[in-house]
Amino acid sequence: MSESDPTTGEPSPVRKIIHIDMDAFYASVEQRDNPELRGKPVAVGGSAERGVVAAASYEARRFGVRSAMPSVTAKRQCPDLIFVRPRFEVYKAISRQIRDIFAEHTPVIEPLSLDEAYLDVTENLQGIPLARDIALNIRAKIKAETGLTASAGISYNKFLAKLASDHRKPNGQFVISPEMGPAFVETLPVGKFHGIGPATAAKMNALGLFTGRDIRNQSLEFMNANFGKSGAYYYWISRGVDERPVRANRIRKSVGAENTFSTDIDAFDALAVELRPLVDKVWRHCEATGNRGRTVTLKIKFADFEIITRSRSVAAAVAGRDDLERLACGLLEAEMPLPKRVRLLGVSLSSLHAAGESEPQLTLGI
Ligand SMILES: [Mg+2]
Repeated sequence: MSESDPTTGEPSPVRKIIHIDMDAFYASVEQRDNPELRGKPVAVGGSAERGVVAAASYEARRFGVRSAMPSVTAKRQCPDLIFVRPRFEVYKAISRQIRDIFAEHTPVIEPLSLDEAYLDVTENLQGIPLARDIALNIRAKIKAETGLTASAGISYNKFLAKLASDHRKPNGQFVISPEMGPAFVETLPVGKFHGIGPATAAKMNALGLFTGRDIRNQSLEFMNANFGKSGAYYYWISRGVDERPVRANRIRKSVGAENTFSTDIDAFDALAVELRPLVDKVWRHCEATGNRGRTVTLKIKFADFEIITRSRSVAAAVAGRDDLERLACGLLEAEMPLPKRVRLLGVSLSSLHAAGESEPQLTLGI
């Protein structure tokens, strides 16, 4: 290991990025909270007859059960599979817990989902020299506070950190040093690159590109010509180079309201009526606190518990209650016709600042 290694802690311009990923998150939470599910193949989401699997326990994965797999297929591959309803409120609460643990080490946290985040720990709040030790601390604390395990990837950029977190899963961690980076990518099948989906992978294969090495042998011009805007990204990651910064979440605060209906709804007019009290509640809060915001988010939870969110940001802060309603309604209208009946609607306003103040600047304050 050289002195510029992200894991040696020597002063260097090399970044230290950690990718933390909870292990089989939803399924592990269900097994934690219900001892009868432990050691058994569990699928969260869907049901034996319909829907898709949102998450599978490791016992289920042994039978080939994967997330996004139709429940019917999953049940065929694993006849003893136990389907469990998701409890997103519980997952969200745990997600907040683990983010608080991350925040003990760095303010530069970029959540990817409820159970995954990038952390830039190049400069960290506790002055721990080795990123691998920070990852060990975080994983131990997550285990102690939530009873759940997480895996970590440690590297000098986001792309490699994410690759690394998969390498010792579950409940493990792996470091990819700058010396190892290019070789690590070289043999990797293109379909395993984060950001290369099945369609792009198929296109690459058709062009004779099967591994990182195959991409690396191409010119930037060739990659641009065949993959447009993404060409340069592929060109550089095939060399282990990824300059994307870890983006701390800019939305610091939001105010929101939501409501679960007594019966599921699918008509636009009925849903629009349900939006009104939510808009009232959000706006009352804005008036009471003097906060103003410019990003409106609509949350829709369908009858099968699938959740989608749609946001729209306007240039200046939303000026009044009716504007807020108009924006929220517009987001709803854009989703019509809905694929499924709706169980819950939520409205929130974010990118908040106090009335009369200009937008706060993001401070990375290390
Ligand atoms: Mg995960």
